[in-house]
Amino acid sequence: MKRVLITGAAGFLGSHLCDKFISEGMHVIGMDNLLTGSLTNIEHLFPNEHFEFYHHDVSKFVHVPGHIDYILHFASPASPIDYLKMPIQTLKVGSLGTHNLLGLARVKKARILVASTSEVYGDPLVHPQKEDYWGNVNPIGPRGVYDEAKRFQEAITMAYHNFHGLETRIVRIFNTYGPRMRVEDGRALPAFFSQAIKDEEITVFGDGSQTRSFCYVDDLIDGIYRLLLSDYHLPVNIGNPQEITIKDFAEEVIRLVGKGRIGYRPLPKDDPKQRQPDITLAREILGWEPKISRSEGISKTYDYFKKVVI
Ligand code: UDP
Repeated sequence: MKRVLITGAAGFLGSHLCDKFISEGMHVIGMDNLLTGSLTNIEHLFPNEHFEFYHHDVSKFVHVPGHIDYILHFASPASPIDYLKMPIQTLKVGSLGTHNLLGLARVKKARILVASTSEVYGDPLVHPQKEDYWGNVNPIGPRGVYDEAKRFQEAITMAYHNFHGLETRIVRIFNTYGPRMRVEDGRALPAFFSQAIKDEEITVFGDGSQTRSFCYVDDLIDGIYRLLLSDYHLPVNIGNPQEITIKDFAEEVIRLVGKGRIGYRPLPKDDPKQRQPDITLAREILGWEPKISRSEGISKTYDYFKKVVI
């Protein structure tokens, strides 16, 4: 039986990855320090004999007994307000945490996939973003702690590949949404849903003309799984190229929930003006593209938020 270590297992993406690898018949070792993750995302897995959980901070030395075939490094604060509150932890998990896991992968002769991000492109001057674009990042701005940790993560992962011959994979994840997003994580979709459900003002930052491209979580997980099993070691964008302004996105949520009104707030510093993945590479090498439309995805996500917003 294949054994896989997933860091950030109690988080939004990590918990969906745990489900995916269990359903593929693998033994899953979940690891999380529960800084932003929640055990409620994985409590349904605890009775499963092929799931185990370590409460551990991967910025510290990581030890796991037994063999490991795959490591997926998904631990990190991932929303702008989280990494503003936890700048040092964000830097450490992307840098020291990645280093520890690369070391573990070497010892175990495991293949490692690291979660990078569209934030490596910063406030992009090229649109849509292709993997060969180097980005436009402010290293000392509020987002720098996340963006630069992830850029370092890519650099050290490539160094382990080139110098040690380690089997590595790098996924650049664009905005993703779905069940198990934290209600209070401050990102657009959880904020808009919880505000609309509670009939509060929907906080659109700036004039709402900035764009994002939102991918439903099941599509993203499928893309990551295919990348892990592929033989491609350079970074690959995974995301949904359907682009929308934040104002239009807020209005979609308002229409779905049937209440709420927009209130405008100042735009946070260094907030990217546009973002859309070019997924030509993923189409070519993984045969992957998103299948779930935004209307289907946000209605599934609404079902979740209806249950958890109180
Ligand atoms: N945003 C907003 N209102 C909110 C939260 C976010 O208008 O309550 C905007 C934010 O300024 C950004 C976009 O929505 O332009 C997406 O923000 P998010 O935090 O979801 O992710 P980002 O893509 O910026 O990392």
